[in-house]
Amino acid sequence: MNLILFGPPGAGKGTQAKLLIDKFSIVQISTGDMLREEIKSGSDLGDAVKSIMERGDLISDEIIMSMIEKRITSEDCKNGFILDGFPRTYKQAVNLDLVLKNLNLKIDNVIEINVNEDLLLKRIIKRAAESKTTRDDDNSKILKNRINVYKNETLPVLEYYRELKKLHSVNGMQDIEKVSKDILSILC
Ligand code: AMP
Repeated sequence: MNLILFGPPGAGKGTQAKLLIDKFSIVQISTGDMLREEIKSGSDLGDAVKSIMERGDLISDEIIMSMIEKRITSEDCKNGFILDGFPRTYKQAVNLDLVLKNLNLKIDNVIEINVNEDLLLKRIIKRAAESKTTRDDDNSKILKNRINVYKNETLPVLEYYRELKKLHSVNGMQDIEKVSKDILSILC
């Protein structure tokens, strides 16, 4: 099963992905985590993306697509994957479908985790306070930029999957267990 978890920063995508990994024996692919690994390793790619990520802007579609293409053809993705934080632009969504088609694969379901903006701000500011060293991009200064980028660049992705009738929305303002339950009722 190949899934996309969709939602603004702080919606709980990472948490829900981890629960689904065990349930379906699939892997989580977080482009944000992959980019942070590149920065940590000191690679050229890491150096190139660091300041863009710190501003809360998006990395180019070309860089992201080549990372994703390599990742989803890895052996551990054979059973399926959950995409977390990708696709983030309309172009990424269209390119993903082309890549998957060539591999004889497809996206089965897209789950949107809906969160009210006030709650989102509270969560992400809390995360910033808790993990200052690991998530430089989470401070409240750039939060507004990240939310704007989400609205301008990423919301059209939602429409793409809505038209393909693959989009399901769950209420992300419930406790974690209830959100998981709602997601499972869509998938099972
Ligand atoms: P995340 O951990 O998913 O919130 O991603 C952190 C940051 O990594 C984002 O603010 C972007 O700068 C970058 N990033 C992650 N995924 C993507 C993507 N699919 N397209 C472009 N930039 C991305």
